[in-house]
This record gives sequence, structure tokens and C-alpha cells, in this order.
Amino acid sequence: MATALTKQATKSVSLQGTDLHLAFGPNQVLRGVDITVDAGKTTTVIGPSGSGKSTLLRVLNRLHEPHRGDIVVDGRSVLKDNPDELRQRIGMVFQHFNLFPHRTVAENIALGPRKLRGLSKDAARELAIKQLDAVGLAAKADSRPGNLSGGQQQRVAIARALAMEPQVMFFDEATSALDPELVKGVLALMADLASGGMSMIVVTHEMGFARTVSDNVVFMDHGTVIESGTPEKLFDAPESERLQQFLSQVL
Ligand code: ADP
Ligand code: MG
Repeated sequence: MATALTKQATKSVSLQGTDLHLAFGPNQVLRGVDITVDAGKTTTVIGPSGSGKSTLLRVLNRLHEPHRGDIVVDGRSVLKDNPDELRQRIGMVFQHFNLFPHRTVAENIALGPRKLRGLSKDAARELAIKQLDAVGLAAKADSRPGNLSGGQQQRVAIARALAMEPQVMFFDEATSALDPELVKGVLALMADLASGGMSMIVVTHEMGFARTVSDNVVFMDHGTVIESGTPEKLFDAPESERLQQFLSQVL
């Protein structure tokens, strides 16, 4: 599994958001957020519900345009680029997998490469099988998503994102909707991807993952970064009262 994942991570790039601001009406959701992921590294975002984590990911791939701030990918500002181009460089995995129920697993994965990368039907199928193999699910290629467990469906969603050959991967609470016994397999796959050199920004409540897999951890509250740094610094020596309080609730 790790070999296939390692191979495709060669193009990973860095991504930085600087001084990002966004408001929905009077609701200031991001109030000057800085976040960095270095090429091939993993940055984890933790923080209470409603602190702006999902919105931050959506701003970083320009599903929302920031009202202020900059987004730099591989050393170059991308705010003036076509947002679709940026989104093709970033793979997203959500809490809910959003697979098409009436298509097979392989078709779900092949769809993006066919439509957005212009691959032929046969080439897209071949790529889909390769990606499924990489996440340990080649045998499920012709099954419908509904016949897979939640954990398997999430691995398919990861394979679908990887089939677009992203340079950075975003995960937004990718394991939060899974039954507890299925969480481990998905986290193991994410850890494999990280050690294979993929650049990743991971929003998660899995503190074990944040501590062991991350290179960098960002703690957000009320639309600002309260603390960031290595997992050792944040988990073993949290400075702010808010982070101390958050950790006492989740650990
Ligand atoms: P988190 O992911 O940390 O739980 P979110 O980014 O989902 O937080 O939400 C942060 C805040 O932004 C919340 O107050 C939420 O209600 C608000 N919000 C998020 N998306 C929208 C939207 N599309 N329109 C209006 N308000 C939104
Ligand atoms: Mg969220």
C-alpha cells in the first residue's frame, strides 16, 4: 500500500495562507488566520466546533474568496488564478464521502480524471483500479458504494481525490462520521499518505493522529490561531489557557 502512495506524492508542494479574513454578514469567521504546510509535510488543525476550521479549508481552495490575506502555493500567490485551477491541485476529503450511489466504485473514481483531466474511458478505468489497489480495495471496483462499509467508502473517497494527482490534500473531519471500529483503517491510510510525502492539511478531532502524524499543529478558536507549532509543543506544553482547556476536554 505504502509503495503506491509514495510514488504519487512526488509532486507535493507547499501551501501558505496569510492573514486570511472572511465574514458572513456580521459574523467574522476568519480573523487573520496564518497557516503553513511545507512540501511533503502534514499540518493538523484542531479546535472547537464553530471555530472556523472548515471555512479555512474552503478559503484555502477558494470555494470562498478571502476578504483579506493571501494564498501562496509552491511559492507563488494564487489569488489571481482561476479558482478551478487551484481546486484541481488540491484533493479534498470530507466527513461525508459524497460518492454517487448509482455508479460503481471504479466509475466514481474515474469520473474526475475523465471529465477534468481528459483521460479516455479505458485509461481512467485503469487509473481507478490502480488507485483502488493503493487503498486496498481493488476487489471492490465493480461494487456500488452502498455495499461497502463507511470506512471502505471513505477510502474510496481518498482514492478518488488521489486520482486527480493533487499536490496537496485537505481532510475535513474525514473520520468523524465513521463507526469507531472503522476509524483506525482510514487514519492508517492517511498516515501512510503522509509518510509517503504528500502535503496535507488535516482538520481532525483525533488527537492521537494529530500528535503522531503531524509536523505542525494549529489550534484555532473563534476564527483566529491561538497557538501553533510542533505536536510536542502544543500537546505537552500548551501556553494559552484556551488550548489547555480544550485539551483537558478532548484528551
Ligand atoms: P468548524 O469547522 O470549526 O466547526 P465552520 O468553519 O464550519 O467551523 O464555521 C465557523 C462559523 O462560520 C460558524 O459560526 C458558522 O455558522 C459560520 N459559517 C460557516 N459557513 C457559513 C456559510 N456558508 N454562511 C454563513 N455562515 C457560515
Ligand atoms: Mg467543520
